[in-house]
Amino acid sequence: MWNSPKVGILGGGQLGRMLVESANRLNIQANVLDVENAPAKQISFHDGHVTGSFKDPEAVRKLAKSCDVITAEIEHVDTYALEEVASEVRVEPSWQAIRTIQNKFNQKEHLRKYGIPMADHRELVKGTADELANIGEELGYPLMLKSKTMAYDGRGNFRVNSKADIPEALEALKDRPLYAEKWAYFKMELAVMVVKTKDEVLSYPTVETVQEDSICKLVYAPARNVSNKINEEAQALARKAVSAFEGKGAFGVEMFLLEDNSLMLCEIASRIHNSGHYTIEGCALSQFDAHIRAVTDLPIPAKSLEIRTPSIMLNIIGGATPDSHLKAAEAALSIPNASIHLYSKGAAKPGRKMGHVTVTAATMFEAETLIQPLIDVVDKMRA
Ligand code: ATP
Ligand code: MG
Ligand code: MG
Repeated sequence: MWNSPKVGILGGGQLGRMLVESANRLNIQANVLDVENAPAKQISFHDGHVTGSFKDPEAVRKLAKSCDVITAEIEHVDTYALEEVASEVRVEPSWQAIRTIQNKFNQKEHLRKYGIPMADHRELVKGTADELANIGEELGYPLMLKSKTMAYDGRGNFRVNSKADIPEALEALKDRPLYAEKWAYFKMELAVMVVKTKDEVLSYPTVETVQEDSICKLVYAPARNVSNKINEEAQALARKAVSAFEGKGAFGVEMFLLEDNSLMLCEIASRIHNSGHYTIEGCALSQFDAHIRAVTDLPIPAKSLEIRTPSIMLNIIGGATPDSHLKAAEAALSIPNASIHLYSKGAAKPGRKMGHVTVTAATMFEAETLIQPLIDVVDKMRA
């Protein structure tokens, strides 16, 4: 029997909560650093949690004292505090990986050295309209202006259609460190969950993601109408990109599939990821199970990462009213094969991820048919 290690988790939102669900089943104590009553703490009763912020060095030090290994459900953490505690506790993935990845521009500069294909991009050094206009001349329009840091769910991106949009774009992202990306004309967005263990880099199959307003809405696992060759190539690219970073755990890799069937990296997350939620029902080991095992050096049979049954995941996002997510969940109760996950975040705000539903079936067509009425419900509730 393994020597039940204590795992510290920076962040107790829905990803932390689902990590705790996995840890619980292995009798592994997960100590969560976040506000009192965060979603992850609500399902884990012991006195090892720490109240505070994952951006506060003192709180990170306190968590470090209480566990054997520290990990994070979010990349926007204080990596200087992680660097400091790395001498007394294992930090997985490494603080270096999290620090590089949390800055999208640095992430891409790092990956460039490893020959990872991605959209051409330019740093804004001064952040002025003239500078962006010059970059626009070089990259062409439309282009995506992006915040280097603190970006999630598209909050941090602004599509610049022409030179005339520049003032509005700079105003929308003011006071943030910026870079610009050439527009990627993709026919589909793909994602792969990669799991780095002490001696291997494993991957789940390639899935298709659909974003609406830059927020992930649907995930089809496996990706529909994608050849085996592309499925394999996307996994290989994802593993290669993640291999450029030190440390163990699950990493989410987002990619663009272009018209000519070539692949481009969109971004990497140094953590479990929305595009991997389907693994809870779709695979023998979920991304959360795999992450817990990876950071505690427990075995992960590669076969357990295969998709057992076609799966579709639909996010339940805060809509027009504070309870619209509950109405969506209620509608899901009557859908055959639908597994409902509510995150217990309280009242919804528009655009906030409140839960998700995964429908599995013998074929993708059947799963599509089963979930369509729920997609219709969710579409009607949009803010
Ligand atoms: P996440 O919630 O996944 O962390 P994010 O806020 O970090 O999102 P990105 O993943 O960079 O943002 O972009 C969000 C979405 O915007 C992408 O999934 C894609 O649909 C679109 N997008 C991003 N970059 C480009 C690009 N260069 N060209 C075209 N579309 C893009
Ligand atoms: Mg991101
Ligand atoms: Mg993204």
